[in-house]
Parts: sequence; C-alpha cells; structure tokens
Amino acid sequence: MAPATTSSDLPESHRPRCDDAALKAIFDQIPLCIWAVDRNYQLVYANATFRSRPPAGIASSLHLGASALPPESAAERRAHWQDAYQRAFNGEAYTVTIGADSYYVQPFQHPKLGTLAVVITTTPPASTDDSVLKAAVAAIPDPLGIYEAVRNLRGQIVDARITAVNATMCSVTGYRREQLLNQRLLDLFPHYLNDGTFADLRRLIETGVPVRRTTTIPKPSGEQRYVEVHAGKLNDGFVAIWRDIHHHYQLNHRIRQQAELLDQIADAVIATDLNYVVVSWNRGAEQIYGWTEEEVIGKRLEIFFETRFSDTTSDEASAILRETGHWEGEVEQRRRDGKYIPIHSIVVLIRDEQGTPTGIVAVNRDISERRHFEMLLMKTNQRLEEAMIEARRQAAEILMVNELHDLLQVCQTTNEAAEVIAFSLQRIFPRQSGYLMVRQPGTANLNLLAAWSATTTAPTSMSIDQCWALRRGLIHRTCAGEGMRCAHIRADPDDCTCCVPLVVQGEIYGLLHIAGTELPRSELIVMTGDTLKLALSNLELRATLREQAIIDSLTGLYNRRYLESSLPRELHRAQREQTPLTVAMIDIDHFKQFNDQYGHDAGDTLLRELAIIFREHLRQSDLACRYGGEEFVLILPGVNRATAQTRLQLLRETVQRRQISFAGRLLGPVTISIGFVVCESNDQNAHLIIQHADTALYAAKHSGRNQVVDFADLHLLPSDEGNE
Ligand code: GH3
Ligand code: MG
Ligand code: MG
Repeated sequence: MAPATTSSDLPESHRPRCDDAALKAIFDQIPLCIWAVDRNYQLVYANATFRSRPPAGIASSLHLGASALPPESAAERRAHWQDAYQRAFNGEAYTVTIGADSYYVQPFQHPKLGTLAVVITTTPPASTDDSVLKAAVAAIPDPLGIYEAVRNLRGQIVDARITAVNATMCSVTGYRREQLLNQRLLDLFPHYLNDGTFADLRRLIETGVPVRRTTTIPKPSGEQRYVEVHAGKLNDGFVAIWRDIHHHYQLNHRIRQQAELLDQIADAVIATDLNYVVVSWNRGAEQIYGWTEEEVIGKRLEIFFETRFSDTTSDEASAILRETGHWEGEVEQRRRDGKYIPIHSIVVLIRDEQGTPTGIVAVNRDISERRHFEMLLMKTNQRLEEAMIEARRQAAEILMVNELHDLLQVCQTTNEAAEVIAFSLQRIFPRQSGYLMVRQPGTANLNLLAAWSATTTAPTSMSIDQCWALRRGLIHRTCAGEGMRCAHIRADPDDCTCCVPLVVQGEIYGLLHIAGTELPRSELIVMTGDTLKLALSNLELRATLREQAIIDSLTGLYNRRYLESSLPRELHRAQREQTPLTVAMIDIDHFKQFNDQYGHDAGDTLLRELAIIFREHLRQSDLACRYGGEEFVLILPGVNRATAQTRLQLLRETVQRRQISFAGRLLGPVTISIGFVVCESNDQNAHLIIQHADTALYAAKHSGRNQVVDFADLHLLPSDEGNE
C-alpha cells in the first residue's frame, strides 16, 4: 500500500522495474482513495477511487493543481488538513482522524516536485449515497435488509451480516432494530443453510444472479412464517426483501392439497358455474372423458359434452337440482372419442353463505364395468334358467321313459305291451310320429307292434333287409333328403327320420322308427330304444319261461301245475256264469304193457299222438293237461252231462281207431279209459272235482277199460266205490 518510497529502501537490483504509468494503473485498482499534495496544498495526484468517489469534505476542488484543502468556509476542517499535510512535509508518517474518518498520511520525496504529502483512506468509501439508500429502504413497505458478506481467511463467504433493516422487517420478524443490526444471517435463521436459501444468497454475492425463493422466517415466538425472498447484489453483499406470503402460501397449499385429493379420486369431479362453464376438472374427469383440464376450463360444458337421460329429461333433472339442490341418477355421456358410456352421476348445487346458488359440482362414476358384470350376470342367469328348463324337460322325459319301462315290466302279453308302447311313445315324442316293429322269432321279418301319431303310415310288416339300421346294427338318420332312406319309410320326404335297431346280445328284437320336421335329442332316442329292446327281450323271455312253467315239454299240453291254478278259476267262472263245467280224467289202458312191447320212446310217441288227438277235439275255451305219466285231465267249460258223454265217447273212439306208427312200424291199437264229473252246484272245490273224476276213471278201469264213466252214475254201483 505504501507508495514507491518503500522500494527505495531496497537494494537497487531488487527495485521493481515499473514506470509511472504502471504504478498509476495499479493505484487505480486499489479500492482506497489515494492522493498526494505538494507544499502549496495543491492536489498533484489522485487515484481512480478518489476521482470517482472522493471522501467527503477534504477538498474544495478535485482537479489536479487545485487546492487540496476544504473551502475556507469549513475553517476547522481546513485547519485540520493543513496540519495533517504539514506534519507529512516535516517528514512525519501517521494516522489522523478528521471528522468520522481516519486517514494514513506520510511524506514522499518526489524527484521533481520535492516533498509531497500522500494520503490514503483507511476504509473504502461507501459505494452509494447512504442517505439515499436509507431513504429507499425506509420507503419500501416490505421487510427489507442490507447484508454484507462475512468471509473466512481464505475469502470464502461463510455468512452474511445485517447492516441495515427497515421498520417493516422489525415488525414482521418481531425483533427490534438493535437486535438485528450486525447479526449474522445464519445465527438468526440457521435453517437457511439446509433449505438452500443461503446457497442462493452466496451465489448471488459471487455471481450477481438475483434470488427469488420461498422460505420461512421464524419469529421469536417460534412461529414459522412463509416469506418470499427477493434479493439483489449490493457491494460485497446483497439487499433482500422478505415478502410475507404466509396467508397466501397456506391458502395455496390447501388448494393444492384439495386439488391433489380430487386427483386421487377415480370419479370425475366437475365443477361449473351456474352457466355450466367449467371451473374445475379433475384427473378422474380427464381419464373418464378424455379431455384435459386445459382443454375444458372456461368452456361451457355443452360445447364438448353430451348427456343422454334414460328415465328422465335434462330439463326435469335441472328442475330437481334447482328445487332440492341435489340430483342423482344414471345417464349416458359422450367421451372425447364419441363413445357413450354409462355414468352414475351425483350433482350438487353449491350455495354461498347467504344461500344463493354459486355453482354446480358433479361427481360422475364410470359404471361400464358394473354394467358389464350386470349384463354377464343376466346372461348367466338366462343360461341357467334355460339349463334348468332343459334339465326339467329332460327329467320329465326320463320320467316318461322310466314309466314306459315300469309298465312294460308288468305287461303279460305282447298285445298289452303294444298298447303301452303306443301310448308312451306318443307322450315321449309328441312332436314326432313313428312306429315299433317287432321281429318274428326265427325269421327275417318284423311285424308292426305299435305306432303313434297318424302323420306317418306304418308298414304292417317289413324285412330286416329294408332297414339300414337293422342291417348295420347302428342308429340310422336322414334329414330333409340327406342320407339314405330305408325302404320301409313312408314319411314326408322333407322330414327327418331316425331308425333305432333294437338289438340285444347281437339278436335283433325289433326296430324303433321316428320321423318329424325335427328329431328329438339323441340321448332320449337311445334311452327309449334301450328301454324298448330290453322290454321286448324280457317279454319274449318271460313268455318262454311262462310256457316252460305251465307247458308239458313232451306233449305241449298244459302241465299239472297249470291245471291246479286254472281249475279253481274255471270253476269260479262257471259258478258265476251259472254254466256247467265238465272235468274228465283220462288214462291209457295197459300202457305199461305198451312200453314193454314197443319201448319207452314209442310210449312217448303215443303220448304226443294222444295230445294231438285231444287238441283236435278241443274247442277254444277247453283245456287239456297232462296230469302225470299217462294220465290226462280235460276241462270243458259250458259242457253239460249229455254233451260231455257224447264228446268224450267220440274222443275215446278216435283214440281206439287212430293208427300210430313209430320208426316205420305200426303200433298196436290203443284204448283209453275216461272218468268225468260235471260241476253244477256251488259247493264243489277243485280238489274234490279231481277226486271225483279220478273215482269215475277208476270205475271205468274196473268195468273193463276203454269206456267213459260219469261220476254221477257211480251211485248205481255203490258196492265198488272207494274199494280200490
Ligand atoms: P291200466 O292203467 O290199464 O290199469 O294199466 P297200466 O299199464 O296203464 O298201468 P299203470 O298206470 O300202472 O302203468 C303206467 C305206466 O305208464 C308205467 C310207466 O311205465 C308208464 N309211463 C308213465 N309215464 C310214461 C312216459 O312218460 N313215457 C312212457 N313211455 N311210459 C310212461
Ligand atoms: Mg295210469
Ligand atoms: Mg294206464
């Protein structure tokens, strides 16, 4: 800092090689005022700092060569400076305080100008007019402060010191001016280090970038108030306005929170004024309808939006809203892409504190998914119902088939079965016609057993060859001219037909034929076919078993068991109808001898031959039974004594006359003995009748064989009865 004189103390070789111009330039960079005065108190040098911002009250003029003393009017100050310069001219170097400021003054030996007094200010001059600045600070209604940088030894900014504050700053922060002045910013507001405020301010001092940010100021009470800082660079510091935005911030914050809340809702929340101009449109609305908030705010809803009412009209809904302040219902609304979607809408009229309507808010929910599920549910229900109906129908069909099965089980004869089948098939296949053909055992022919519905003519008989189903053993269908039609079918050519072969264990029992404009379901056809074929085979089996149970296998006549079961029935009928009934018992004469003479097989042939003769002589209502061995019983309903005598005599004669051959050999004449009884009174039972016939037969044998004896005549021979 010292002028060049100091360098004169250095050895010649170390003196800086610097000319006047360079020195002047360096001096001009020094932010302190430097000037020199000659013995005449004339200003001979002034650096740039002095020229631009001279310390107040040191000179009347700043021109070089002018007097460096304050004007004569400032006598005291002038005297002070005269004294100060004089001391330097006398070779003294010292610091002098004049007014509020201190100056360093020292002598300088100039080679040409002689002794000069060089003055250097000890503090840099204020860059602005302090009073103006202070006036400006006071005038600003916002809290304002002036701060200067606080630097560490390396020159880094570590804090800022308050150098001036205005009254508002005090009232806002709650501090008194004395409490704030010279305070360090980070001591007052340590959180500025963390919230980024200090970093912004430091950058401002370093680079001059203005700061505008939101932060807080804690009051001495501890309350945090939101402020907005506007700061600009000032010297090695900044000037900052702290605008209180607390209320505004809180409001904004609440609004932001509400907006965020609204955006969380999936429903569309739409607020309009009373003219349906959109004032709020949340994210839900964007997502449901496709228009963004920017696109719709400020527009009348009807410009881009369309609502279809189903149960009511737009006018009715508006009227309800006006009257009750509330409307709720389901509508359809158009999306941006033109598609209408189902919406559940709640509309509320917003009123101010006086109750005057101010706006409308609608909360709309997209119920497409719900509708979709409702639809799905409805369809499922429908399908379920259809399935139920179908199941019920099938259950009814199964019931009918079961009934057919049960009825067929108890049918004794094929004729009975035919009736049952015709009746049942009419019920099972009410929309079709058809017939059931039954095979003649041991032949390739089938005869008509039953037919239902008159629309189809059934053949009375057919052969297996005439049916594809019977030939292949598979169900055969044709429909409206498609497929090979069987020769037996006479149905309408447009009809569908179905032939079901009734085959059990490889044997054909019959054919079920169905025809109609449409065919019943296959399961029903198959089920019915199965029932029918089992019934038919059962019926045939039962007939065989029944025959085996009641028919004598050698002669083909009824056996004794059958006689015993049918005689009481015949007796009963005769008594009921008051008609006579003749029971005759027949025995071959000397059959033992016959067997002995011709052999047992010839005896069997004779037995069969007798059966043939009996059948020749019997009427439809008569019964011939092999009672055992070579004994036979004839039951002749309605035959009285006289007729019995005649017919039995005829029978006896026929046997006697019949020539029987066996193995090419003519067998000797055979005779039979017959005893008979005619039942005319009510008290006779079957057992007694047989006993009486047997008694009569015994009498015939006893009387010489080959004769007919009426039990009624036996009292004529009382001595013989019961003796043998
Ligand atoms: P009659 O009745 O005239 O007194 O003499 P009979 O020889 O017929 O006497 P009896 O009734 O005792 O004989 C019955 C004979 O009939 C005995 C048995 O050999 C014969 N017989 C019984 N059943 C059959 C049969 O099924 N076939 C044959 N070939 N003979 C039978
Ligand atoms: Mg006998
Ligand atoms: Mg005999």
